[in-house]
Amino acid sequence: APPLAEGKWINSEPLTLQGLRGRVTYLEFWTYSCYNCVNTLPTVKSFDKRFRDKGLTVIGIQSPEFEREKLMENINAGVKKLEINYPVVTDNEMKSWNAYGVNAWPTIVIVDKAGLIRYRHVGEGHYDMQEKVIRTLLAELGTKAAAVANSGDDEFNGEKVVKTEAEWKPLLTPEAYHVLREEGTERAFTGEYDNNKATGDYHCAACHLKLFSSKTKFDSGTGWPSFYQPINAKNIAEKVDKAFGAVRTEIECARCGSHLGHVFDDGPKPTGLRYCMNSVALKFEASN
Ligand SMILES: [Zn+2]
Repeated sequence: APPLAEGKWINSEPLTLQGLRGRVTYLEFWTYSCYNCVNTLPTVKSFDKRFRDKGLTVIGIQSPEFEREKLMENINAGVKKLEINYPVVTDNEMKSWNAYGVNAWPTIVIVDKAGLIRYRHVGEGHYDMQEKVIRTLLAELGTKAAAVANSGDDEFNGEKVVKTEAEWKPLLTPEAYHVLREEGTERAFTGEYDNNKATGDYHCAACHLKLFSSKTKFDSGTGWPSFYQPINAKNIAEKVDKAFGAVRTEIECARCGSHLGHVFDDGPKPTGLRYCMNSVALKFEASN
């Protein structure tokens, strides 16, 4: 999950997702005068009350719709009136909002102990599903799977991530699900990373395994992010794809088997390969 942007914290010292590794984090992008957001609060408060000591951290990300919602005195008054006692952080410049690709109030994102986004929901409702996800992720705390955190994403260690399609579906956006799990292809020049020139690593959008580095990215002019080699040959799997009457080599994530794109032999030196990826199958994380 992207790091939280800096803001003013209410009810807490500043928190970071890095510091919350090992806990489950429930983020609500909201604003205090949004009616739909306020409707979610009884449930959100109840999650905080029932699960905080079991390893859940609830954070309200105050994302202003109007100028007046940026003023600290108004935010403080709103939080007090609504009797919120979990941490709230201001996001006046909508930096966290943009980093998470949010576009509506409220949006819920649940992050697991390893810092991966495991659930996302826009709007009110779906509280039973949210509770189910929270319980599932809390149950993962303290198990030996804790080793998956951080360094576990650098190199595929042979331990596959296996989920049913019904399990993948709520974890991915519909666009990402279509590409990753149904071998779809995003339209050229529409993806988020086609023109991304920032320094960092590209992870599998489904399981977070590290796949490509910005160091091997090049401008292929195709409208899809292109790389001349993966970060580690172990992290990707090749598969012959005979769809559309042509034989192409499909590239999958070695850990979770999700479809990422294809590889062609018209790339630049030193490999001569062109890994043609779908932006939506990747999650870019800038290096600090
Ligand atoms: Zn994966």
